[in-house]
Amino acid sequence: MWTIKQILAGIKALFIVVGCCGCCSLAAAESATAPATASANAYVYRIACDDNFPPLSFFHNGELMGLDVEILQAVAQEAGFDYTLQALPFDVIVPRLVAGRLDGAIAGLSILENRKEILDFSDGYLSCGLAAVARVQDEISRLVDLKDKRGAVKKGTLSSLFAEVDGQNLNLQLHYYDSSDQMARAVMSGKADFYLEDYPVAAYMVNSGLYPGLELALPRVNGVHDYGFAVAKGKQQELLEKFNYGLHLIEKSGEYERLVKKYLGEKPQR
Ligand code: GLN
Repeated sequence: MWTIKQILAGIKALFIVVGCCGCCSLAAAESATAPATASANAYVYRIACDDNFPPLSFFHNGELMGLDVEILQAVAQEAGFDYTLQALPFDVIVPRLVAGRLDGAIAGLSILENRKEILDFSDGYLSCGLAAVARVQDEISRLVDLKDKRGAVKKGTLSSLFAEVDGQNLNLQLHYYDSSDQMARAVMSGKADFYLEDYPVAAYMVNSGLYPGLELALPRVNGVHDYGFAVAKGKQQELLEKFNYGLHLIEKSGEYERLVKKYLGEKPQR
């Protein structure tokens, strides 16, 4: 579990790292676009991340940061490709990939069979399951406690798919939101009774101190899925190969483990 002190320490450490990184323009992050490595005449890949998915990708004091952001940065440096990173609402990312308006995405995207019909994925770079977050006073502690409740889910995500399909026997009333922050606020204000979110994100948000009165009611409501970097099916295969190559290198060098510890704590949480 993260304490506020740990989160602040993590963010402070993050500033030091970002501050040392000459290739990143901090001003650009404020316009939701962070340029990465630059070398003359190279193609600059257009890559997207989720604009509100802490600690994978999120804005803090106008800076785009997070595990996805830094994994991509480290991978690109190792594999030698240039990119711009656009922080977007999750729901628009897959359609833009398919339409060719983006070359790749690192957005906590779970590798799902139905997505493989339209996307190609890299090797998995993190695995986690879904959690349910609810108000402390509601004392939700078992899946069956969600029966007939109003559930907040993020549009286009695994959580919405899970709630629509597996949640049918629970007779859930679903409310759809664009971001993780909106879901948490809906539960805090009583517009919804719980929200479904990937475990590391749910745990981070609950422990951030930004959403008082919420708790990680059900740490695991389904099986575990891997996150993958994604491109449109059959497109940008070179980028995919470069990503896998760079990922392999940062796993070997220990950089991957350092980043996971920095954002998720000593042990990767699922
Ligand atoms: N992992 C989930 C999915 O792929 C949620 C991703 C997100 O909200 N960025 O659907």
